[in-house]
Amino acid sequence: QDPQKYTGIVEDCCCDYETVDSINEEVLHPLLQQLVTTPFFRYFKVKLWCDCPFWPDDGMCRLRDCSVCECPENEFPEPFRKPLNRGLPSDNLVCQEGKPQSTVDRTIDSRAFRGWIETDNPWTNDDETDNGEMTYVNLQLNPERYTGYAGPSARRIWDAVYSENCPKYPSGEICQEKKVLYKLISGLHSSISIHIASDYLLDESTNLWGQNLELLYDRVLKYPDRVQNLYFTFLFVLRAVTKATDYLEQAEYDTGDNAEDLKTQSLMRQLLYNPKLQAACPLPFDEAKLWQGQSGPQLKQQIQRQFRNISALMDCVGCEKCRLWGKLQVLGLGTALKILFSVDGQNHPGQPVQLQRNEVIALLNLLNRLSESIKLVRERGPSIEKKLEGQ
Ligand code: FAD
Repeated sequence: QDPQKYTGIVEDCCCDYETVDSINEEVLHPLLQQLVTTPFFRYFKVKLWCDCPFWPDDGMCRLRDCSVCECPENEFPEPFRKPLNRGLPSDNLVCQEGKPQSTVDRTIDSRAFRGWIETDNPWTNDDETDNGEMTYVNLQLNPERYTGYAGPSARRIWDAVYSENCPKYPSGEICQEKKVLYKLISGLHSSISIHIASDYLLDESTNLWGQNLELLYDRVLKYPDRVQNLYFTFLFVLRAVTKATDYLEQAEYDTGDNAEDLKTQSLMRQLLYNPKLQAACPLPFDEAKLWQGQSGPQLKQQIQRQFRNISALMDCVGCEKCRLWGKLQVLGLGTALKILFSVDGQNHPGQPVQLQRNEVIALLNLLNRLSESIKLVRERGPSIEKKLEGQ
């Protein structure tokens, strides 16, 4: 990187740029790349066909490549098809006084994971417990890349995301918490643009795909704040993953394929208990600093509403593949927000938040996308900046 631009602590975080680059390169990127190919993490449940709640559908995709191929029933893992417990699992822990089951099981106190459950995420618009029109998508077969989705439809969504939901903050008057929401969205936007640039249709006549470094520069690298927001979002999501360590370590990564499931479990442990990561960046983001003061709870509700609106806007994305990745990444961010700012966690201190399987899949796939973006910025950034800035 240009040492002038990206040194020191990432704004509002607890680690510096150089550390992020080195832990990403040495630990996170290699592990995440393997993790997202496992059967547990490559199938994402999504409702792709929903009406846009804000305006009539006007989306257009230039490439046929825009459509998503959904998995036939027999492809995705069998355990994913079974109905899950509804509601909070603690509901099931009824008092068993007088029965043999009433013998105190002290292990329960330290058990964070109590089986996958169906529960709605308060940060997102979709009802995650409604399986009605959900389909499974193999993410490995539907990579996030250039689709040709652009113009007024795409612009209207980004405009709505920024102006209606998280006003920009040049005035300096905005509070820290609102700034966090803006930076998360901007960081995600940078990452989407980076993926478009890194897998671009360079020549339609020969169907040649490759990196479009000018696009990378024009959309992201030229604006240091967009790069900074990408690092911020990465650290924010990483903090959510590390905060949920107990839960994620105990979770069942069961797909019916024993060897693959053991591998998934082992990769998760390597990620969660990595000594290098723990030594270099033990607290990637400090969520305890937010939502303090008298207006804290109100502010949190307001930001939760705004984020739900952003989530609803994903139904207006007029290109199927973009909608898939938009929904996945917004659910991933919603899951990070849920982990870091869970209302339950506040009401019942010490009781960890409960997650849906699909939320964990979204969270780790989002972290992988951000990790890929950071790697590309670091690898290609300095040379392309030198070349294009000199022109
Ligand atoms: P846009 O990326 O549309 O940006 C609009 C405006 O937002 C810019 O002019 C700028 O003022 C501001 N802006 C841009 N980046 C940032 C940032 N990081 N932080 C703050 N402000 C910023 N296209 C694909 O080809 N493949 C995809 O997978 C894909 N997924 C998408 C997912 C979603 C949810 C959406 C809304 C769009 C997606 N698109 C995708 C379209 C893509 O994001 C662009 O909208 C499109 O390529 C047109 O780009 P643009 O240059 O007009 O600028």
